Amino acid sequence: MSSVSDINGVGEKTSKLLNKLGVYTVEDILLFFPRTYLIYPDLTEITEDSVNTLISFVGRIKSAPKQIKIKRGLMTSFTAYCDDNPVDLVWFNSSYIRNCFEAGKSYVFYGRLQKIDGKLKMTHPQYWDVLDYANVKKEIHPIYNLTKGLNNNSITKAVRYALENCKINQERLPLEIVKKYGLIDYEQAIKSYHFPKEYSELVDARRRLAFEELFFFVLNTKIQEEDISLIDNEFKISHSKLTDDFVSSLDFTLTEDQNNVIKEISNDLAGPYISQRLIQGDVGSGKTIVAFCAMLDTVLSGYQAAIMAPTEVLARQHYATFIDFVKMVNIDIPVVLFTGSMKVKEKKEAQRIVDENKACFIIGTHALISDGRTFDNLALVITDEQHRFGVKQRQALSQKGGAPHSIVMSATPIPRTLAMILYGNMHVSLIKQMPSNRLPIKTCVIGESKRATAFNFITKELASNHQVYIICPLVEATETTDAQNVIDYASKLKSVFKDVEISYLHGKMKAAEKNQIMSDFSEGKIKILVSTTVIEVGVNVPNATAIMIENANRFGLAALHQLRGRVGRGSFQSYCILMNAASGKDESKRLDVMLKSNDGFYIAKEDLKLRGPGDLFGVRQSGEFSFKIADIYDDADDLLNASKEVDEILKKDPKLKYNPALRSAMASFLTNQSYVL
Ligand code: ADP
Ligand code: MG
Repeated sequence: MSSVSDINGVGEKTSKLLNKLGVYTVEDILLFFPRTYLIYPDLTEITEDSVNTLISFVGRIKSAPKQIKIKRGLMTSFTAYCDDNPVDLVWFNSSYIRNCFEAGKSYVFYGRLQKIDGKLKMTHPQYWDVLDYANVKKEIHPIYNLTKGLNNNSITKAVRYALENCKINQERLPLEIVKKYGLIDYEQAIKSYHFPKEYSELVDARRRLAFEELFFFVLNTKIQEEDISLIDNEFKISHSKLTDDFVSSLDFTLTEDQNNVIKEISNDLAGPYISQRLIQGDVGSGKTIVAFCAMLDTVLSGYQAAIMAPTEVLARQHYATFIDFVKMVNIDIPVVLFTGSMKVKEKKEAQRIVDENKACFIIGTHALISDGRTFDNLALVITDEQHRFGVKQRQALSQKGGAPHSIVMSATPIPRTLAMILYGNMHVSLIKQMPSNRLPIKTCVIGESKRATAFNFITKELASNHQVYIICPLVEATETTDAQNVIDYASKLKSVFKDVEISYLHGKMKAAEKNQIMSDFSEGKIKILVSTTVIEVGVNVPNATAIMIENANRFGLAALHQLRGRVGRGSFQSYCILMNAASGKDESKRLDVMLKSNDGFYIAKEDLKLRGPGDLFGVRQSGEFSFKIADIYDDADDLLNASKEVDEILKKDPKLKYNPALRSAMASFLTNQSYVL
């Protein structure tokens, strides 16, 4: 397979940047799908309402661009007049800009309009000749994930070159299925997904690619299922009195649902077959403690028990929690942590403890399943926030050391029929009740005009010694990276909240740095944590009582529900402030769902009802099961279809013995799957 550097125009520098995005080969770049699409807006006049939104306007230039030296380089700027409104346009380190404009002429500018010290301003706007804009507006432009130093244009060009010059993998789905469901062919789908000529083409391409993803996911799950059902349980795990004592020693009582699930699991562990169980419980319902009880029974019976979390932050949090719990039980059983950022020496030491102790608690990220690690006495494996893992990773952990019991935990509310398919007929336990000490989170949706009130409110929460999350706006199309956005935003907040400890978190930070910030936040050293959605999974800081989400209208409801679940995790009244920058009524309607309920199932159902086809591309969905394209709610019908087809195929040929083409198609599909870690 040829390297991306073989693409015309991709030099060493660009190819290194692409590598950072997980793109190494030409095939990778073909499968590096747009994050979203941009249709440039109609030209608009400038009004108060345009501030803080992305607009295109016609601006006339009166005098030539000016260039001045600033601390970090060069700034080029000029003023464009939209009717009589002056807008300052600014570029940094882009000296070529000076030669792109003529005084006296008008151009179209596109970007986010800001108002700073009473003056209108746009930074790094895109620009066109007025006559060209009509054509630009007709097209649907792909927007890719970016990294610092790499712009959307370079990726677009590289993809275009690859599409024109490379052979695209042939059809992988059985042809009868392609026909039966009216899917477009693979090659066309790849092309249209990058560069759709019109909206309907994009919809067809998306459906085709989503179908394929679901099909291979289900096929893989169901083949494995054959292997794992009805394996004899040779472990001797019994429910211990110490576990009951631990539960009674907690300073709260477990909910009935928690108790029931603990019972179900202990029956499984003592039962005739290896357990395969999904625990579904909404955010904050208290799944960790249930996991701990199962693991406690397991180690007390003389075995090793492992829990795998999708992020290092979450793994460390579990580690700290488990150490406290083990102290409460007062037993001398080691708790071991494995994460990617640990030094080789630390990992070796952890492995030594595992090797020397028949019974121990093992906690980690996917570092648990990295090569060479062995757990010889492993009887129970728990996967937390399991929908965040890729297929291969989940399987890898349950394959460590014989066939351990497997429990997966998820906060994703999915209807039972879909859960059965996605989780391969696992037994399902539900934790529906919330702990009794919880007060329902109070949620409000506000616009820009209430920002000051919101900040005042946050100041009050801080004054009562509580902590606050602020989720940064999602970065738009042509703007900066998430990381830069969070950094800028946090520094702006410092002038609003003086003398308050503010820190930030984003996905590109080094693990050690992230861990430090999270542990400072949970110890209360940091008062306001500004974050991207990296915070969304599993993090538990009960003293945080307010979360403010910027541009809430741009998040999927599932993501908003998860984010809101970061607060209301203790007995304090908690609050969720959704900043709504939407202009349309429909977008605001979606946010209203958040006001009506704290129940994940309800929200998922309403979300689906409100979603139109346009939402498939506009709003970030929850990234369930690491699907690149498919969404379990939007594509629920095709999930059922795919499952039906897989059943037919496997009924005739359970191991795909007579269907080597499909078997290798599945293998190649799984290799290409990338993970959202
Ligand atoms: P999740 O289900 O989202 O993983 P956690 O297990 O992190 O939730 O629990 C959230 C918080 O609620 C933790 O601080 C935990 O100690 C606490 N908790 C769990 N169960 C109860 C309960 N029955 N009563 C009160 N607090 C509880
Ligand atoms: Mg959790």
